[in-house]
Amino acid sequence: MQEALFSQALGLVKPWEVTQVLLDVQANKIDLHIAWDSDAADCPACGAPSQALHDHRQRSWRHLDFFQYEAHVHCQLPRVQCNACKATSQLQVPWARSGSRFTLMFEALALTLAREMPVAACARILRSSSNAVWRQIDAHVGLARRQESYANVKIIGIDETSSAKGHDYITLIHDLEQSRLIYATPGKDGATIERFCKDIQTHQGRPEQIEVVCMDMSKAFIQGAAKHLPKAAIAFDRFHVIQMANKAVDLVRREEARGEDWLKKTRWAWLKDKSKWTDKERGKMAWMAKSRMKTARAWRIKEALRDIYALKASPEETAKALRGWLHWADRSRLYPIKDLAKSIKTHWLGIVKSFERSLLHNGYVEAVNSLIQAAKAKARGYGTTEHFIAMSFLIAGKLKHLPVCPLKKARARP
Ligand SMILES: [Zn+2]
Repeated sequence: MQEALFSQALGLVKPWEVTQVLLDVQANKIDLHIAWDSDAADCPACGAPSQALHDHRQRSWRHLDFFQYEAHVHCQLPRVQCNACKATSQLQVPWARSGSRFTLMFEALALTLAREMPVAACARILRSSSNAVWRQIDAHVGLARRQESYANVKIIGIDETSSAKGHDYITLIHDLEQSRLIYATPGKDGATIERFCKDIQTHQGRPEQIEVVCMDMSKAFIQGAAKHLPKAAIAFDRFHVIQMANKAVDLVRREEARGEDWLKKTRWAWLKDKSKWTDKERGKMAWMAKSRMKTARAWRIKEALRDIYALKASPEETAKALRGWLHWADRSRLYPIKDLAKSIKTHWLGIVKSFERSLLHNGYVEAVNSLIQAAKAKARGYGTTEHFIAMSFLIAGKLKHLPVCPLKKARARP
């Protein structure tokens, strides 16, 4: 009776069945023994039906808890001796991924938790190890990503970030229309784009289908895109232009802050969007922002640039406003700001391209950046670039083939 109940709860289909259930209260453990109740099976290698069993191998898997008890599944797993292909191969079990010591449901829960908290915390709650959870993440993200189709990707964003350890760089490529991470690779040179072009071809895509590529003004990316994405127009997106403007403001502030300790402490307030100032910052910045300080002037010029993007006017109007802004920046007598204006002029076509409706409203680059930072925080301490990349895909890849959370809300009986 209880064996039938557990067979049903595990979703087993005959001839798989639970043959024994042993609850050990002292050891805080329940053991579920499963058997293949037949002396034949289809060959796992070639599919030939009803082949004789050769021998059995004892295997065990950790499963979702049963009440407060740790649950373990055990099976004398049959190997099939095939007359057709002559291979001796082990039966695939429906409850676990090949090679794993955990059931699929356990792994699905681990992945669900890993999205919400650091891997170490996830491992503690599951009473498992961080290494085991990382192996599950790496394996499932790898399997799921292999099945993703990138056939319809047209607008991509290229970004770089430091790795979890901080001294290596990783290039991230996003599908900006579907707001998902589609490629990540170590390095930040033009060759990363070449690798992306190879990768997209293994996902039903072609480099020629990419119409627009949004990026920062790094020479390596510009050259890489020109060489490997022949049909793509380059656009320099708002996020990166504002980032450059912030750097310029900071250069002005640093110059002016020499010997002025109080000004040194205002760094973050100058870089923030003014709508994001805290009450304390607002009080402090109120007079400073309006002052004649060089930093304040640079900041006002930067904020005006931000306003131009925030207007979301037509591409023509935005370009016109930006031309006016360039005029102002040029006469500012602040060298970092003049340099910024020069960069914008040099990359004018790509900047104007980013004003197109479909691109201007794309706040995704900023949004995904915070997701990637979250992934980095979760991967920190585990060091490897592979873990960071796998975590980034888990959080930002919108992978359609990951196992879904096994815990569901109960429904009323019909
Ligand atoms: Zn066979």
